[in-house]
Amino acid sequence: MLADYHMHCSPYSPDAHDTMLDMARGAMARGMTHICVTNHMENCTQDPEYPDQFPPFTAWEALIGDFQRVKSVMAGSLDVRLGAEVGAPHYLPEEGRRIYAQPCLDFVIGSVHNLRSARDFYYLSYPEDFENFRPAVEQYIDEYIEMTRSGMCDVLGHIGYMQKYMARQGKGFDMMAFEDRLRVLFKACVERGVGIEVNTAALTDALGDFLPQPSVVRLYRDMGGEIVTVGSDSHRAQDAGQGIREGYELLRSLGFKYVCLYKEHKPEFVRL
Ligand SMILES: [Zn+2]
Ligand SMILES: [Zn+2]
Repeated sequence: MLADYHMHCSPYSPDAHDTMLDMARGAMARGMTHICVTNHMENCTQDPEYPDQFPPFTAWEALIGDFQRVKSVMAGSLDVRLGAEVGAPHYLPEEGRRIYAQPCLDFVIGSVHNLRSARDFYYLSYPEDFENFRPAVEQYIDEYIEMTRSGMCDVLGHIGYMQKYMARQGKGFDMMAFEDRLRVLFKACVERGVGIEVNTAALTDALGDFLPQPSVVRLYRDMGGEIVTVGSDSHRAQDAGQGIREGYELLRSLGFKYVCLYKEHKPEFVRL
């Protein structure tokens, strides 16, 4: 069993390059047995180049049609499910609840890509002195705490997202410097049955590591966390399934016994 539970496709994610069928074939070529397609649903990006609420609900009919076709083409060889990566659903709770309640979605990743008054971390230029950026990281973790308590997502996407873009600028920090806050976050996760994702996209980027970093995944486990999905966060067919085996190795090395699939927002535990 190899499940890639985070990928994007065209035209439903504006930053994706290949169709859902191509993503499915790419994942199969890498040996995946299960995928969940998780296109962006952004609520509050502060970003003129990236439309809010993409795809709009008018596009959902096409998305669901595509999904049904790909699911039937792949039947018997690849288990295909539909999910979404929702950007900070708690920023606009009414929209967040509406998306979470869509019956076509088995799985929702909650990801904070931007702070409430700022653009996506992708666009920022990071200060030389990390102390100047510390409050943003604190705010970022606090948003994950609030998102976890909101009940609008199943797992937390790529905790430490900004580390990927800082690395491209030759900067970085140890997320464990925020251990006290992370403990509050993971306590909320365990209480509410919210899982985390191990995101493998930055393994092949300047960062060269998982998100969250392994010591943070270990902290989640030490605090009783058991629900984990692994996702490539791929935007091209050639990247589908990338790093999933490495993610499973990481989980085994940290003492996890299971990785999760999702059906109707409920985790299905599969032995590692
Ligand atoms: Zn994301
Ligand atoms: Zn993504």
